[in-house]
Amino acid sequence: MSHIPAYATQAANQPLAPFSVNRGAPGAHDVAIDILFCGICHSDLHQARNEWGNTVYPCVPGHEIVGKVTAVGSGAGKFKVGDTVAVGCMVGSCGHCEACAAGEENYCENGFVGTYNGTLPDGSRTFGGYSTAIVVNEDFVLRVPHKDHLAAVAPLVCAGITTYSPLRHWGAGPGKKVGIVGLGGLGHMGIKLAHAMGAHTVLFTHSPRKADDGKRLGADEVVVSSDPAQMAQHAGSFDFILDTVSAPHDLNAYLVLLKRDSTMCLVGAPPASTPHPPLRVPNLYGKRRALAGSLIGGIRETQEMLDFCAAHGIVSDIETIAMQDINAAYERMLKGDVKYRFVIDMQTLKDAAKAA
Ligand code: NAP
Ligand code: ZN
Repeated sequence: MSHIPAYATQAANQPLAPFSVNRGAPGAHDVAIDILFCGICHSDLHQARNEWGNTVYPCVPGHEIVGKVTAVGSGAGKFKVGDTVAVGCMVGSCGHCEACAAGEENYCENGFVGTYNGTLPDGSRTFGGYSTAIVVNEDFVLRVPHKDHLAAVAPLVCAGITTYSPLRHWGAGPGKKVGIVGLGGLGHMGIKLAHAMGAHTVLFTHSPRKADDGKRLGADEVVVSSDPAQMAQHAGSFDFILDTVSAPHDLNAYLVLLKRDSTMCLVGAPPASTPHPPLRVPNLYGKRRALAGSLIGGIRETQEMLDFCAAHGIVSDIETIAMQDINAAYERMLKGDVKYRFVIDMQTLKDAAKAA
């Protein structure tokens, strides 16, 4: 492999545009992957526009990758040519800290290597899945158990695991009342997964037009979060709330809905320049409530999530787009105009490269 087609942004205020990345041949423990589909996560937009203040340009986003193995390194034994595989948010970690030893590479004490905007041990930068191929250490490659709907599988390796991991960690299941805040890419997976785990699942949305979809996706109840009367009906009743919202909002409105000793977990990551309004601390100590966060999931748990989804017939609800429409897709995502994840059909980039 050498220079392959990609889409990159060159600065926070620039659109994504054609680019090429040098992938190199697979090393001994690497797998080369022909990318079929790549989901569009709101994190891609935050990163492309430097909303977290740490973007190194050029930036090729994309960490919801599904593709076929085209080559394996001499020392790689987990996959063979032709296998359907996925790559999520990580392509490396130190491998020896306590978190890595526990299979939680996502909490690597030396920092995991992001699929994009990351730095590999040799100092080279990582470029993500808005490209036609990628080379990844086999330890960070997932087996895809789904036989079809591969485009709709792609979002599982970020939106899916980011909701699955905290739902499992905080014990979502039968007899538990679980809230999911926000019906976007992460939120719709949170609804499907909490429902499949057997929890009484409640969607909080600030978009009343999404109520029917919330129910169709698996919510037992839908609460319009801008309606104080609807919110008040649920005071002190939740075992767990998972907040997937990408913008700043008042967390206090949700904390008061938790039971004693229950937890609200944040996975949404608003821009650094616009933090959430301040917490009212009595909302925590009044009922020994906890406010937590969670970051994607480890490789072992991501595989577990993919297997769980295949066993339960779960994929994402998606709209496929051409690579060339990426900038319009970002604008639509910002307006909440996507049901519920955009996925790039990478054939469109391959065709454009052939025609050029
Ligand atoms: P998304 O598809 O754009 O969904 C975000 C949802 O948040 C929207 O659909 C909307 O739901 C709600 N929302 C948006 N603006 C709002 C506002 N001003 N007030 C209230 N609600 C609002 O984004 P996503 O891809 O699911 O990502 C969500 C967030 O999670 C992003 O910040 C992303 O960076 C972060 N993320 C974190 C992790 C992690 O590991 N922690 C992993 C992936 C992504 P309603 O219309 O239903 O209210
Ligand atoms: Zn993501």
